[in-house]
Formats: sequence, structure tokens, C-alpha cells
Amino acid sequence: MKIWLDGGLQDIESARVSVFDHGLTVGDGIFETVKATDGRLFGLTRHLNRLTRSARGLGLPDPDHDEVRRACTAVLDANPMPLGRLRITYTGGHGPLGSDRGEHGPTLVVAVGETTRRPDSTAVITVPWTRNERGALTGLKTTSYAENVVALSRAHQHGCSEALFANTVGQLCEGTGSNVFVVLDGEIHTPPVASGCLAGITRELVVEWTGAKETDLPLDVLQRADEVFLTSTLRDVQAVHRVDERELPGAPGPVTAKAMRVFDERSGDDQDP
Ligand code: PLP
Repeated sequence: MKIWLDGGLQDIESARVSVFDHGLTVGDGIFETVKATDGRLFGLTRHLNRLTRSARGLGLPDPDHDEVRRACTAVLDANPMPLGRLRITYTGGHGPLGSDRGEHGPTLVVAVGETTRRPDSTAVITVPWTRNERGALTGLKTTSYAENVVALSRAHQHGCSEALFANTVGQLCEGTGSNVFVVLDGEIHTPPVASGCLAGITRELVVEWTGAKETDLPLDVLQRADEVFLTSTLRDVQAVHRVDERELPGAPGPVTAKAMRVFDERSGDDQDP
């Protein structure tokens, strides 16, 4: 396995990042997960633009898009696989023990792992912890993901693949690694970015391609919605067949099934929409 680090390809066994890298010591880093199908990257321009937005939010220097593109291509060429999740990580670099940044500049790592297509439907739980819709990191794709790790592990304990958060005012927000949509009276709704959710790339495309509305929704909408579905780079559009104790038999329902079809057709047309 080859990864990209320090400006070139390296063997994963010998590649080294400082133990004082702030991505490790204080979670001062950002990332993107990009889907690679037969070596072709999906939506790379959108991912690079979001990487830059996240970098600016953290006060990191803008990532060099040409270098990141070169790194992605080199890593995919060196590790051919039918369906891969390419991981771009960009950290504050190594520095002093503490939160002050060092002088060494950012660390860029690009790696890839094999993945499989997700099932058409899944079960989710809601968790009692909240997303902060007004935090310094809100909406940024940072490597400070421990809250998501805790919530996801609770989901797994309950036989679910995702955990959904409300924000601090009780509105539906997002999952640990996905955005959430509900169907009410035949119309598709998803929480607005102001709810504190990540501006998901799949979410953005689904809103554009289905006309879904961005609506403030209370968390308990999940108990009465006709259909519920998730979106993310690795799930695409995935129906929900159980939320906590509530079963949604027949998922994917008709509206979700149509959104899945539209997404499959349109995303197949253009690898960098
Ligand atoms: N929300 C969070 C917290 C995420 O981490 C992700 C993706 O990893 C998403 C939503 C979905 O975003 P995307 O569709 O860009 O993968």
C-alpha cells in the first residue's frame, strides 16, 4: 500500500508523521473522503473547495489543489481497486506540546482503502448529545471526530449503522457521517446548514436533483415522517428502515426509491459534478 506524504508516494510501512503532529495531539486538522470508482474520483472539485473552506475556518494555509489532485491520482494509480475511499488529511503540522501552532507548516496525507457498496436500507438511532450549531468548528470537516466515534459506537451497540444528532435547540441536524432527509406528504425536506450540519456534497446534489427543501425540523419528525433517508459519499442515498423503536416497513419507500434512482443516474453521468 502506497500513500502520499511529504510531497511524494511512500510505503505505508515506512511512512512517518511526527508524534507531535497537531493532527494527533490536538485534533488540529481537516479531511475529506472521496469516492473512487475504478480509479475515477467522484466530485473532486467540490471536495477540494470544501477542504479549502475547512482550512480557512481553522486558519490553516490554503491547500494547494494541484498538489492534492496529483496526490490523489498517484495514490489511486499505485493502489488499483474497484471501489475505494480516498482519504485526504491536512493537519496543522508538528509543533509544541500545547495548542500553539509550530512553524513547520501543514502535513498532507492521502491514503486509500477498499470499500463496498452500502445496503439499500439501514437502521439508525438518535443520541442524546447535541451538535453545536454556533461553535468555532461548526460546518468544518475537522479531524476532531471523537464525538462522532462515541455516537457511532452507540449505534453499533444497538445494531444500527448511524446515529443522528439534534442541535442545541432540539432541531434535527445530521448523522455522525451523513446528512438526513425526511419525506412529509410526498415532499422531501432536509435540515438547513444553519442547523449545524456539514454541507454534505451528496446532500447538495440531492437537493439540486430532487428539489428537496431545506427546512428546520424538530427531532421528533423522525417519529412521523413517511420516509427517512441518509446521504453521504459512501452511502450515496440510503433508505432508513428503523429509527430507534420505530419501524419503517417497505423502506425504501417510493420517494426515496426515486431519489436513489435519480442519484445513481445523474452521478454516473459526471464524475466531477
Ligand atoms: N455529515 C458529517 C458529519 C460527515 O462527516 C459527512 C461525511 O463524511 C457528511 C455529513 C456527508 O457529507 P458528504 O456527502 O460530503 O460525504
